[in-house]
Amino acid sequence: MSINLINSKVRQCGFFEPHEFCRVKTTNSKIVSSVCWSYVQNKNILKLKCKTDLEIFCTRCLMLVKNRFHIHRTYKIFKTTHEANNYSINCEDGYEIISVEECPTILMLIEDEILFEFLQIINHAGCNLPDNKYLKDQSSQEPDSKNIINNPFAKLKEKFRK
Ligand SMILES: [Zn+2]
Repeated sequence: MSINLINSKVRQCGFFEPHEFCRVKTTNSKIVSSVCWSYVQNKNILKLKCKTDLEIFCTRCLMLVKNRFHIHRTYKIFKTTHEANNYSINCEDGYEIISVEECPTILMLIEDEILFEFLQIINHAGCNLPDNKYLKDQSSQEPDSKNIINNPFAKLKEKFRK
């Protein structure tokens, strides 16, 4: 499913299974359902849609959090990386830029988006470090206190030791 420059309009759709995403497998997060995608390519413009379900590893509470994922992206395709870089430096038109030289595939584009999603800080119900409430109470009572522990990693370490 590699992406090339074409002279006409092409439409395709299909599914990828979670195990096909090799880079995702090296993270703590997961893809939990088939990835449904479709694209329309008109010459050098590619419109890609995809949706799936993710379980994103929350770096605050270390839980896997279920999250719906869908994207709708438009890519501009260039022959060489040089051309692609030149274009992205000079233009801010909201297109994602790809170059044929780097042999992109639909799977790679989707995987890039999913990996990027994993890096976002997620807000979810029940996300609490054990002493969160205590810290909040203390800071509201003594706003000038210099003893407030606000290093989340110190708290994480404590959690691992248990
Ligand atoms: Zn959390």
